[in-house]
Amino acid sequence: MSDLRIDRVETVLLDVPLRRAHRFARVSMDAQPVLLVFIRTGGGVTGVGEGVVPGGPWWGGESVETMQLIIERYVAPLLTGRSVDDIAAIQRDVTDVVAANLFAKAAVEVALHDAWARCLGVPVHSLLGGLARRSVPVTWALGTEAAPAVVEEALGKLDARLHRSFKLKMGAQDPDDDVARICAVAEKLAGVAGVRVDLNARWDRLTSLTRLPRLVDAGVELVEQPVPGAEYEALAEINRALPIPVMADESLRTPADALRLARHGAADVFSLKTTKSGGLRATRAIAEVAAAAGIPCHGGTAIESPIGTVASLHLACAAPTVTWGSELFGPLLMREELLTTPLRYADGELHLPDGPGLGVELDPDAVRAFTRS
Ligand code: MN
Repeated sequence: MSDLRIDRVETVLLDVPLRRAHRFARVSMDAQPVLLVFIRTGGGVTGVGEGVVPGGPWWGGESVETMQLIIERYVAPLLTGRSVDDIAAIQRDVTDVVAANLFAKAAVEVALHDAWARCLGVPVHSLLGGLARRSVPVTWALGTEAAPAVVEEALGKLDARLHRSFKLKMGAQDPDDDVARICAVAEKLAGVAGVRVDLNARWDRLTSLTRLPRLVDAGVELVEQPVPGAEYEALAEINRALPIPVMADESLRTPADALRLARHGAADVFSLKTTKSGGLRATRAIAEVAAAAGIPCHGGTAIESPIGTVASLHLACAAPTVTWGSELFGPLLMREELLTTPLRYADGELHLPDGPGLGVELDPDAVRAFTRS
């Protein structure tokens, strides 16, 4: 086997333009900033990982700029000279120097797995224990326009067999206006497609308990994170009150969070994100807590480019409990693929590529074209 020792760690900051603006409750973005982390071995193998957050530091406090600084100044010096398969010890040593910063740690951890898998000539999912499936369904995030335009967008995607379920962001408007808009969309799509909503922690307990039942009546099939992440009791109360699943996202970053959510009965579905949890291994640990608690999982996104998306896909395909599909649509939202061979979206699903490591190759010209100057 080639020399596994880490020779160099490099970071590159990109701004990848989007096909259309993507809106969250208070933040909108026309381009997604992406940090690529390259880990090169003495044997000449390069692994890549992606640091990315949904549109800025509002979600979890980190941004691509904080990640670049943390990795270059504090993490990279700990990596040089270590072996790419020494991941458990590297993670312990990094945690001794850098608390939190799970998005930054995920970028490094994925790059280590990609480099190690490439050295072995195996796909990353082999390092995660093998495959439970080869593709996952992909839910599409609909826009924030008025109901008729949104319904038309959804029907177009259904006709083209691109997606079978849809997610709508809520929390930006007055709750009653928001509910009226979502109900108009859900009633039009009832019976032809699944409709899910994500509050991104914008409502409080009382608003949730009084408004969410109307969404249930309109046919919404799942409600994601209505209340702030730390409010486990409120989440549990809302979950008990609704006949449809409540999915935890902001409340779930670590395996300990997963255990606490399970104990409270606070969520019927877990949203897994390799990014928010510090990488593939911690996310798999969360999936295993979920499996022990009988809670199904969903493959969430931080609007990753194809690199972060395919890393999450390896995890989603290797974790048997990911039975609630995914929202791994990041590359479909971007105007540039960044890869020599694009990821394959077909029949409403994202398909795992073949090949060693993550199974994809970056196009150096595209990376150069979008590198932040
Ligand atoms: Mn979410």
